[in-house]
Amino acid sequence: MPVADQEANIPDRCRHRVGPVAVASGVTAPDADAHACIRPAPPWLARLWNGRISAMTLPGTILVRPDLLADVVAGGRPALLRHEIVHLAQWRRDGPFRFLASYLLQYASARMAGMPHDVAYRGISYERQAVAAEAGPSA
Ligand SMILES: [Zn+2]
Repeated sequence: MPVADQEANIPDRCRHRVGPVAVASGVTAPDADAHACIRPAPPWLARLWNGRISAMTLPGTILVRPDLLADVVAGGRPALLRHEIVHLAQWRRDGPFRFLASYLLQYASARMAGMPHDVAYRGISYERQAVAAEAGPSA
């Protein structure tokens, strides 16, 4: 099979990188995350989000609700991008095991203490840090 055909068969080559999208959004991103990929969330995940979640970040990848993707990559959602860039840096800093374990432990502890989902979620230190970054650097 010719190389071009093989490449065409790779289903998830990255079409949108954080670096150029950050520039379009007027957002500062660490150099280490410039090559991270922004891609549409798979349909099953977007259905699970049920319109309540706009994006999710995994190591090196930001998954965006498909109906928001065009706006995000055109620079129209800087707060969302700032939030997810913080999560990219957290994954990188802590590594996948520590990030996931700490994130889930904080959430589960809050839930076991009787907090409702929204409160428990917003109380996770990783989320507090990402939310604080949404507004951008203060002038
Ligand atoms: Zn978040």
